[in-house]
Amino acid sequence: MHFSLCKKFGMSLFTVLLLVVTAQADVKSAVQQATAAYVKAHKKNNNAPDDLVNVAQAIPSIILDIKYATNNNFTGKVVYTQSVCYLRRRVVEALEQVQQELGKEGLGLKIWDGYRPYTVQQKFWNLVPDPRYVGDPAKGSKHNRGAAVDLTIISLKTAKELAMPSAFDDFSEKAHRNYTIMTPEAAKNCRRLEDAMTKYGFVGLPTEWWHFDYIGEQAASPRWQQFALLNVSFEELAKMQ
Ligand SMILES: [Zn+2]
Repeated sequence: MHFSLCKKFGMSLFTVLLLVVTAQADVKSAVQQATAAYVKAHKKNNNAPDDLVNVAQAIPSIILDIKYATNNNFTGKVVYTQSVCYLRRRVVEALEQVQQELGKEGLGLKIWDGYRPYTVQQKFWNLVPDPRYVGDPAKGSKHNRGAAVDLTIISLKTAKELAMPSAFDDFSEKAHRNYTIMTPEAAKNCRRLEDAMTKYGFVGLPTEWWHFDYIGEQAASPRWQQFALLNVSFEELAKMQ
């Protein structure tokens, strides 16, 4: 909030900072509660509609290249303890349809990231505190809800990635969906990915051509809202599968 607005509403800068810190603490405690509830519920039932599902097991033809499980990412460090991708069951079902549709053209999906435990979000925010590229932990990322996926298209024949407007996690205008300076091939491939994803209930992030959130059938009440921010570790999830 701009300082002049603080004055207008009679708030001191201290009050504003206090509100921000309190909001973050609220989110953290909500995440803790949701995580405990998820673990408790899924010890008994691992077939619930909001399950975090292992994508490689559910859709074996999808290629995984989980960048945060390597040091080949914007942090330069290995951030994930396992090279895995989990997404909510409904999201995986939609992704399977995208994979089938692209398969008819000899194409397939390659995933760079899916569900991301909440504590990792804080690490990313500390490195890149820019909401255009990293979800603010005060709100949480849709990756923390298991409802966002980062991905590209490959040729099934060669397993090579198709030309796209930029590399993954290129935090520049090159990654923006409305960026126009690119080869016709990259533009065509980017549109192909967006068309296929949109058809099955995803919406693309304007500033990252590779990032899609799952909204389902009704954009007015997006599905991702129904999935809580979680901090379940990959190890815990593996035990629940
Ligand atoms: Zn993303």
